[in-house]
Amino acid sequence: MSVFAYRNGVLHAESVSLEDVAREVGTPFYLYSTAALESHYNAYAGAFAGQDAGVCYALKANSNLAVIRTLSRLGAGGDVVSVGEMKRALAGGIPAERIVFSGVGKTRDDLRAALEAGIHQINVESVPELEALSEVATSLGVEAPIAFRVNPDVDAKTHAKISTGKKENKFGIDYDHAREIYRRAADLPGIKPVAIAVHIGSQLTDLAPFRAAYERVAALLHQLREDGHDIQRLDLGGGLGITYRNEAPPDLADYAAMVRSITGNLGCRITLEPGRSLVGNAGILVSRVIYVKQGLHRRFAIVDAAMNDLIRPSLYDAYHGIVPVAEPADGVAAEPYDVVGPVCESGDTFAVQRPLPPLADDDLVAFLSAGAYGAVMASTYNTRPLVPEVLVNGDRFSVIRPRPTVEEMLAAERVPDWL
Ligand SMILES: *Cc1c(COP(=O)(O)O)cnc(C)c1O
Repeated sequence: MSVFAYRNGVLHAESVSLEDVAREVGTPFYLYSTAALESHYNAYAGAFAGQDAGVCYALKANSNLAVIRTLSRLGAGGDVVSVGEMKRALAGGIPAERIVFSGVGKTRDDLRAALEAGIHQINVESVPELEALSEVATSLGVEAPIAFRVNPDVDAKTHAKISTGKKENKFGIDYDHAREIYRRAADLPGIKPVAIAVHIGSQLTDLAPFRAAYERVAALLHQLREDGHDIQRLDLGGGLGITYRNEAPPDLADYAAMVRSITGNLGCRITLEPGRSLVGNAGILVSRVIYVKQGLHRRFAIVDAAMNDLIRPSLYDAYHGIVPVAEPADGVAAEPYDVVGPVCESGDTFAVQRPLPPLADDDLVAFLSAGAYGAVMASTYNTRPLVPEVLVNGDRFSVIRPRPTVEEMLAAERVPDWL
């Protein structure tokens, strides 16, 4: 059962009324459910319980400190893609030895910070990055434990903008050169290849591309061992999709069984890096209808959230369920609305001709499945303050990132004294 449900005619998150949160915090706001975060994490941990496997939460999906702490308390490690995220992971209670550093363009400063923090593994994505890391590690007198992110040239069959495992994508080293590059790495000072990493994309709803990628990784592992490398770990990325509308992502049990069937007798520790599937359906964005405007051919619901707050619909045509916070009466007929934000761009559209129960000015609506790649991708375009984030736990809620005032936003800028 979803943690978001109507009670006494009002949408609740766990035992908290969204009307109460809106009254106290104002709109729009993001809201996350502790129970959902915990159940999603525990589902992963449970599905992989019989395997030597660990979950490193991909922070980029939602890097609020309270979200990180909720997961780290359950034992999650972290997959980070910047020094900023590394610092968040540490501040959120994830120990350095459970942090993996990914990303296609890590600078020397980033690599130095990672080595100084003593993180578990650096996932290297190119030969120039390898050489930079060797220099930095040597200058610090340490040996960097690395994986190469291998690009298996597998079509993830997901949206082009979140597909990362084809050879024309910018990510990872070419599969066909991997053996040669591992050899080169082993010869460099300050480098210790210990793992192979792969991540082919996000919002995958089919097991087949995962299987194809992992089979390639397993084949490479055998070759690397023949070449004398001591590979102990496989880093199998994230990417498991969630249901936004009617997608049917694979069961975690089936995913875990597939992983076991390929890696079970390789003697490797498995790292999983889920992002979206841990947080996506644990969060919503609550917004208020400012006006309902009847156009010549369309009826518009103009809401106080906009593309700067939740960019997924305009960035990759993403679908988010939209439900009124006040439960519609039984049997009311749905009407088509274009649900749009106030930003001065036509792309500021959340839904086109979406059938919804009749809406009126001041009604609250919730955008569903907004816990991943929502708040983290927000901007202040149109000088709209970042939307606050709220965490619910049972009958409690707490603001975990307040809404800045416009005055605070302006105070962060500087006008040169020659102006
Ligand atoms: C983004 C990313 C993930 C998480 O992907 P999801 O689709 O959110 O699960 C995992 N690993 C790496 C390297 C990533 O870049």
